[in-house]
Amino acid sequence: MKVLITGGAGFIGSHLSERLIAEGHSVTVLDDLSTGRTENLAGLSGHNRFRFHEGTILDPALVGTLTDEADMIIHLAAAVGVKLIMEEPSRSILTNVGGTETVLKAALKDLKPVFVASTSEVYGKATKFPFGEDDDLTIGATKNLRWSYACAKTLDEFLALAYVREADLPATVLRFFNTTGPRQTGSYGMVLPNFVQAALEGRPLLVHGTGEQSRCFGHVADAVEAMVRLMATPAARGEVFNVGNDEEVTIRALAEQVVAATGSPSEIRLVPYETVYPAGFEDMARRLPDVSKLERATGFRPRRPLSEIIA
Ligand code: NAD
Repeated sequence: MKVLITGGAGFIGSHLSERLIAEGHSVTVLDDLSTGRTENLAGLSGHNRFRFHEGTILDPALVGTLTDEADMIIHLAAAVGVKLIMEEPSRSILTNVGGTETVLKAALKDLKPVFVASTSEVYGKATKFPFGEDDDLTIGATKNLRWSYACAKTLDEFLALAYVREADLPATVLRFFNTTGPRQTGSYGMVLPNFVQAALEGRPLLVHGTGEQSRCFGHVADAVEAMVRLMATPAARGEVFNVGNDEEVTIRALAEQVVAATGSPSEIRLVPYETVYPAGFEDMARRLPDVSKLERATGFRPRRPLSEIIA
C-alpha cells in the first residue's frame, strides 16, 4: 500500500512510518516540523519507498495531491502539548479542526480509508470507568486548560463520523490514551519523559496536587501494533477505538517507579496545582480505557508493562 501519514515526523508517526516501511509499504510523510523532527525519520532517509514532504495540512492543494497518490491516510498531525495549547489555544482549533477537515475532504474525493487521531481527553470529566467508546462525551464540563485541544479533537471525531454516515467515507477514529516511548520529548508537558529527564539529571520530580490522580501509559510499539491491525481490518471502518493500555498508576507511584528504575537521588516533591496552573484548574482524576473493542476487532490488546515502558 501507499500510505500518507500526516504528522509522520512526530513521535507516534515516526514509529508507524518505520513499521510500515519494514512491512513493505510505501510511506509519504507530510509534516510542518512544528513539534516533529526530521531526526525522528533519520533511519528512513534515502529509502526508496519513503518520502518526506515538509508542509502543512492547512494547505488543501498539497493535501489533495498527496492524498490522490495514496491508498490510505493516517492523520496524526495536530497541535499538541499542554504548553503549546495553553499559550496558543486558537492554533489548536485552527490546526486540529481546519486541518482535519482538509484531510477528510481530500479523502472523500475517492473514498480513501482515513484514520483520524483523537484523544482520551474527549472523555472530559467522565465519572464512569473504564471509558468506553459509546460513553457520552463530557468535555464541556471540564475546566481544563487543554479545552481547545479536547474540543477540537471532539469536533474532529464528529466531522469524521458525519462523513462516514453521510458520504460512506471509510474513516476510523483512534482515541489514543497516554502513549509513550523512545523519541517522546518532555519539553511540552509529557509527564513520563519529564520525570525520567529530571531523575537522570538529579532534579526533583514535581508531582502536581496530591499525586493520587491516575493515568495509564501505553508503549508506542503497542499503539503502532493496534494501528497496523486496524488498518488491515475492513470492519473497523466507521468505528471509534480506544487505543491504550489499561494498567493504571497514580502519578505519585509513577514518580517513585522512575526514581527506583534510574537509581536517582532525586526527591519527589508535591506541588500545588496553583503554582503551575491558573486558579480554578481541574485535573482529571482518572483516565482508564476500556480496550475490549480493540481486542474484539483485532485480537490485540496493548499489554506492555509500565516497568518495561519506563526502562
Ligand atoms: P507529535 O507532536 O510528536 O506529532 C504531531 C506531529 O504533527 C508533529 O510532527 C508536528 O510537527 C505535526 N504537525 C503539527 N501541526 C501540523 C500541520 N499544521 N501540518 C503538518 N504537520 C503538523 O505528537 P504525537 O504524540 O506523535 O501525537 C500524534 C497524534 O496522536 C496527535 O494527533 C495527538 O493529538 C494524538 N495523541 C497522542 C497522544 C500521546 O500520548 N502521544 C495521546 C492522545 C492523542
